[in-house]
Amino acid sequence: MILTVTMNPSIDMSYQLDQFSIDSVNRTTKVLKTAGGKGINVTRVLHQLNEPVLATGIIGGYLGEYLVNQMNEQLIPSDFYKSTQETRNCIAILHQGQQTELLEAGPTFSKEEELSFIDHYTNLIKDVSVVTISGSLPQGLDSDFYTKLIKIAQEKAIPVLLDTSGKALIHSLKNTHAKPFLIKPNQHEISELLEKPVATNFQELKNDLENPIFDGIEWIVVSLGADGAFVKHNDTYYKADIPTIIVVNPVGSGDSTVAGLAAGINQQLSDEEIIKYAMTTGILNTMEEQTGFINREKFDEYYQQVVVQKYE
Ligand code: ATP
Repeated sequence: MILTVTMNPSIDMSYQLDQFSIDSVNRTTKVLKTAGGKGINVTRVLHQLNEPVLATGIIGGYLGEYLVNQMNEQLIPSDFYKSTQETRNCIAILHQGQQTELLEAGPTFSKEEELSFIDHYTNLIKDVSVVTISGSLPQGLDSDFYTKLIKIAQEKAIPVLLDTSGKALIHSLKNTHAKPFLIKPNQHEISELLEKPVATNFQELKNDLENPIFDGIEWIVVSLGADGAFVKHNDTYYKADIPTIIVVNPVGSGDSTVAGLAAGINQQLSDEEIIKYAMTTGILNTMEEQTGFINREKFDEYYQQVVVQKYE
């Protein structure tokens, strides 16, 4: 079973407007309220792939309950640690082909809550084969928090796929005792990590991935949007070419890619198959309106069109 970790989930509210007027009243009947957060997207896609999955993290209050109820309605298993603090709302206003977002920072967790969650996670991890950790850290948790979760998994030889950015990612790469099994930076995240603009030129990317900061990370999947991905697995490099498609909504494609990687690794597929799997789930997400959502029926058609080649 795959355990997905979302430390700062949200209720994502999307409001569709014909026109958005600032400093005025805007009315709409087109409202969507969905369980959100990068790890929740990963969970949803894994569930659509029929992979055994369990979602965890911290939820609280009325919105936390709403989130779990929504997952229950979709028959997605979850076991969150319950805090007394309310889960956050994130608002997206869709107008004239544009998207304006209002993201709450969310709760600030205490040391006590951190330790209680770690106990909860340690109990859950007994029955899992792969862990995914996604998204930014909530307030109150230090940048070494994900490293603590990785260490607990590593002691049980459970691979951890980490999809985060900023200080939490840097800390997990620099820690010598516990390393993620896989990271999936996009072009922006890898540029931020290396503190320089990273091009999509594969030879340059290959040189960049030889940077000592990546030592000890088995898989590095650099996702490149419509350009597919460049991948390092131990000392082998791959490039993934994907078909040109009509994009409906690319948000959540990275999460969908992580779901595909976790599924492929959990099924112990070959390198090429894991990469093809992940590219396909990323592509399928861009073809849907809903974030972190795929149409499983189109899987085979697009899987056939992804080309993965070794890069020397
Ligand atoms: P997000 O932050 O929106 O979740 P990301 O920046 O982490 O996404 P991307 O590199 O944009 O991730 O996309 C991940 C994968 O999704 C790509 O490797 C590709 O397979 C697919 N994808 C993304 N954008 C496109 C596109 N325009 N056309 C086809 N496939 C796409």
